[in-house]
Amino acid sequence: MKHSAVTNLQQQLLTAIDTGQLSGQLKINEPMSRYTTWRIGGMAECFYQPGSIGDLQSLLKLVAPAVPVYWIGLGSNLLIRDNGLKGLVINTNGVLNQLNIRCETQSHKTLCYLQAEAGLSCAVFSRKAARQGLNGAEFLSGIPGTIGGALAMNAGAFGGETWRQVISVDMIDRHGNISHRSPEEFNINYRHVEYKNNTQQQWFIRATFCYEQNEVELQQSKQEIKNLLKKRARTQPTTQANAGSVFKNPPGDHAARLIEDCGLKGKSINGAQVSEKHANFIINTGRATAGDVEALIELIQERVLYKHGIKLQTEVHFMGDK
Ligand SMILES: Cc1cc2nc3c(=O)[nH]c(=O)nc-3n(C[C@H](O)[C@H](O)[C@H](O)COP(=O)(O)OP(=O)(O)OC[C@H]3O[C@@H](n4cnc5c(N)ncnc54)[C@H](O)[C@@H]3O)c2cc1C
Repeated sequence: MKHSAVTNLQQQLLTAIDTGQLSGQLKINEPMSRYTTWRIGGMAECFYQPGSIGDLQSLLKLVAPAVPVYWIGLGSNLLIRDNGLKGLVINTNGVLNQLNIRCETQSHKTLCYLQAEAGLSCAVFSRKAARQGLNGAEFLSGIPGTIGGALAMNAGAFGGETWRQVISVDMIDRHGNISHRSPEEFNINYRHVEYKNNTQQQWFIRATFCYEQNEVELQQSKQEIKNLLKKRARTQPTTQANAGSVFKNPPGDHAARLIEDCGLKGKSINGAQVSEKHANFIINTGRATAGDVEALIELIQERVLYKHGIKLQTEVHFMGDK
């Protein structure tokens, strides 16, 4: 197959697909607005959804070290800038989504080990854990991301945090090598996780979580999931395009309270608007660009700094050049 007006990287990957070297899905010049919950983002030069972990290894070995690589899960915590992403975007949402459950009973106690691949949705993980009578994963039901994204962000809600039940993870590096690691090898903080010996880019491909099984919890977990989802629908703009909390809560305070106190609820810049329902959410009312959202983020930071002397840090991640 011949392709014209394509970049070297695009040609290389198209050829690898044509010759069967790679087995995943490749899209070129793909609008990233299709892959973020904000429905915003410029074009990716190459966008790849791997067919398997082996396929991912082949891809990373094939692509020259100088090519920028971006990794996205569900895009629920991402602002991808309007100029797009030059290089390769790897997307695991909906692929690499296996879940294996193994339970062991010892002296009247049953422990279950859930090994989840990075592309599995947090909601599916949470429901399957609840169905096994496992308590502790309910909070993940309302986080609209993947397990990989939850590990990268140490996603949390209503008192729960992703890494509390993690017993090991597997990571893949820029050269396609896989390493098995324990939580002790990471600095794990509020919405921030960092591998202590970080010398190159690497990403989570799977993780094993451990929960204690308790049949009494079965109904309670299911009910708790329902309650948490209702609470979210009541307090968050769940029907409008957004990326969850834009800012981290500063110690001892809430970003939403500070933003509201500056009179910024409802404030908009073109199609980007501070939600009337939750001041730490910015919604895309239809035609917002990444530039609009970023300008609104900067305005909020300036106003909160001026009035409260606090520089709000973003929880959302940025990708691409301004
Ligand atoms: C309505 C709504 C409600 C939300 N509520 C919450 C909440 O209560 N609590 C909370 O913590 N978050 C919340 N979020 C934010 C978001 O869902 C979480 O941060 C989630 O964990 C992001 O997962 P993702 O797969 O979408 O990651 P993405 O947004 O795709 O990526 C986020 C970051 O993680 C990196 N990443 C993704 N996958 C991997 C991987 N496999 N290995 C290494 N790095 C990776 C990306 O490169 C990027 O830097 C909410 C978002 C929305 C839209």
